[in-house]
Parts: sequence; structure tokens; C-alpha cells
Amino acid sequence: MASLQPFDVVIAGGGPVGWACALHLSGPQNTSTKPVRVAVIDRESSEQLKPAATTDAIAKRVYTVSREALAGFAAQGVQLNLARTTEVRRILVFGRDQREALCIDEHDTRAAAIARIIEHDELTAQLAATAMSFGVTRIEAQCVGTEIAGDMRIVELSDRQLLSTQLLVVADGRASTLSEALGVEAIHRSYERQGVVAHFELHAPHRGDARQWFLPDGSILALLPLPHAACKPAASMVWSVTNERADALKAMSDTALCEAVTNATGRRAVATQVLQSAAAFPLTLSRTVNPVAGRAIVTGDAAHAIHPLAGQGVNLGFADARALAQALSGASSVGFDVGHPLLLGRYRRARYGATLAMQVATDALARIYNQGTTDHTAQDASFTATLPAFSDLGMRVLGRLPAFRRILSSAAA
Ligand SMILES: Cc1cc2nc3c(=O)[nH]c(=O)nc-3n(C[C@H](O)[C@H](O)[C@H](O)COP(=O)(O)OP(=O)(O)OC[C@H]3O[C@@H](n4cnc5c(N)ncnc54)[C@H](O)[C@@H]3O)c2cc1C
Repeated sequence: MASLQPFDVVIAGGGPVGWACALHLSGPQNTSTKPVRVAVIDRESSEQLKPAATTDAIAKRVYTVSREALAGFAAQGVQLNLARTTEVRRILVFGRDQREALCIDEHDTRAAAIARIIEHDELTAQLAATAMSFGVTRIEAQCVGTEIAGDMRIVELSDRQLLSTQLLVVADGRASTLSEALGVEAIHRSYERQGVVAHFELHAPHRGDARQWFLPDGSILALLPLPHAACKPAASMVWSVTNERADALKAMSDTALCEAVTNATGRRAVATQVLQSAAAFPLTLSRTVNPVAGRAIVTGDAAHAIHPLAGQGVNLGFADARALAQALSGASSVGFDVGHPLLLGRYRRARYGATLAMQVATDALARIYNQGTTDHTAQDASFTATLPAFSDLGMRVLGRLPAFRRILSSAAA
């Protein structure tokens, strides 16, 4: 029989959330009195972990990272290349009538910057490098199965290695196969929309504004501020559109795409050049009913995927990582067993309300603007309150609610 490599925590998935979990469990802010042996199973090649500074092109995927997440990373010693990032100073939302319906700024957050736009590659590489500097082991393989064996969990890798661990943290993204293997029940709904992403050079400076248009055709267009490309202002687009429209946008020439974006914004933003061509991702709402199984928890997109209209998907996962480290810091009370049900119950209670609040808020906004989901699994009472597709008035009313503004600006910390 193959020998078992022992760990305290095995994290399946080397995306931003998997590495954030590893960082918070191993970094100097970890308040546990005993070091935790952590391994991250990363099926991507180590080539993917190159920091952004080694390439000129802006990564296809960029994140709006919340202040809470950034403060947590800084406390653990993560050093981002700030020249590759942009501060978000205001969030401006425009209604179907092209009038400003909502503005979130420093009055809401009591800080000059609401969030920071960071490329996926830069963020993941820096989280991984810092976590590995604290002794986290990276194993390049795919997790193919897992079983409970007494007071341990066994994790099987694609190269036939077997690992033993007190706790398995599942962070394998929205098409999670491991949560299925654990028998974790989940609700998946499709928005029957795709998020079309692309980067553009802009005619005028963005001044740190993240802008979003709720358009008359029911689509939602977001332009996020990027660092200036060769001294020219630039923005990253996420346009939530029907599947047919997504195909059409991807097939457009650069000139036609710039024109389509410029016209959709009522010329408030003029796109002059495509810097990163269009790609599309299906938009879904998914939620695990209970992210805790025997000696395992499900985190990040594997546990909860949301509509990208609030740009908060990855922040929910980063809040999972902080909550996990917080829950496991009580391990001394259960004989340093980091997979103890008491600790995992603490984690579940810490994340339940905040995750649900963000999912309900983003789903409500999507429904208001006619981007309701289609059921693919069982009914869930929290998502069935169908809101009518009403006008910009709905946004203005919601925009006056402090709790709603807080959710959009602080990522359900
Ligand atoms: C169009 C669009 C725009 C978005 N915009 C934003 C935004 O502006 N801001 C924001 O916060 N979020 C945004 N998101 C959401 C964001 O991309 C996700 O929330 C984030 O990537 C989740 O991180 P994760 O680590 O949980 O999962 P992932 O990033 O999906 O990482 C999962 C990792 O696990 C690996 N893996 C999978 N299976 C296995 C296995 N069996 N064994 C080992 N490894 C495995 C994968 O290769 C991958 O590396 C957007 C999403 C979309 C679709």
C-alpha cells in the first residue's frame, strides 16, 4: 500500500481562494498556538503562478478586491505590485435612462479607496509566494477522490499519491467535483446569461470610477478602472448579456466592439482600442446548503457563485478564508484537531448570514433588471421571492438603504 503523506490541512484548488486559505492558516496572524501543516493541491502548472510584472499584457481576469481582504493580506505580509493595480474611488451606477442612480464613495466606506482592481495572475501568484514562504507545501496534481478513515480524511491525487489530513478544504471553483464527491448538497441556477470580459483603452481618464450601466435591453455593463496602459487610461469590461448577444459581441471586430461599448454607455466612456479581446463565462447562482461535511469544508466559488454585477465573487471567498483561520484558532480547546466538528460548526455559523445576504442582494438586483435565474435543482425559499422587473426607481429606492449600500461596498466581510 502506498505510504500516506500526513498534513493537518489539505486545500484542494490553487485558485485565489485556495491560496488565501493557505495564507491565513499559515501566516503570522494565525493565532493558533501550534503550527499547522498545510498543503495546497494545485492542478495548474507552476507557470500559472508568475506575477503580473513579468508580462506586459493585462490578465484576462481582474478582481475588485475589497478593503477587508486587502487589509487581511497586508497583515500577513503579502506585497502586491501596486503599479499593476488601481484604486476604486467611486462606484457609479446608471439606470436605463442613462441617469446616475447610485453613487458609493468615501462617505459610505470612510476611506479614500473602496477597493482595488488586481489581476488574477498577480494576486494568485503573490498569495501563493507568501503562503509558501511560511512553509505551505504546493503539490502539482489533481485531487481525484477522498474518503473518511477513522479520525482522518484520505485524499487521493491523480499521480496516485495518498495524503492524510485532519481537514480537507475544498476550493476547486464553481464546477466543483469534490463537493459532489463529499455529497454536499448544492443549489445551482443559471442566469441564462454570460459575462463577456474584455479590456479597452479609454479616451478620457477614469479617475478611479467603477461604472455600471443597467441598460434598456436588460443587459448590465460594468467598466472597472485599470492601470494606465502605456500612459493611456484603460478599463476592464464585464458585460452580462444573453447567450446570443455574447456570441455576437465575441464575433465583433475591435472597432465594432469599441463602438458597441461606447454607445451603450451613452458616450460617458469612449473605448478607443481593444487591449484584451472578448471572452465569455456563463453566469450562475449556486449555493451549498451546508458547506461542512465530515472533516471537510467547501469554500469560495465551490460553495457559492454569484452574479458578477457587484464584483464581489472572490471577496466572499476571501472572507471564507479569514473566517476559517478564525474558527481554527480555537483548536487548542479540542486537542489541536483542526477537523473537529465544533470548529467547523463555528466556521459555518460565521459565514452563513454574510454569504446569504450577498447572494440575495446581487440576485435581487439581477432580477430587478430582468436577469432572473432558471431553476436547475430543488427549490430554495430564500431565492424564490420573485421581484418584478421594474424601472430605475427600484435601484434608486434600494440605493437609499444603508444596509444595501454597505453590502455593495464592503463584500460581506
Ligand atoms: C465574468 C466574470 C467576472 C467576474 N468578475 C469578478 C470581479 O470583478 N470581482 C470578483 O471578486 N469576482 C469576480 N468574478 C468571480 C471570480 O472569478 C471567482 O469568484 C473566483 O475566481 C473564485 O475563486 P476560487 O479560488 O474559489 O475558484 P477558481 O478561481 O475557479 O479556482 C479554482 C482552482 O481549483 C483548481 N481545481 C479544480 N478542480 C481541481 C481538483 N480536482 N484538484 C486540484 N485543483 C483543482 C482549478 O484549476 C483552479 O485553479 C467574476 C466571475 C466571472 C465569471
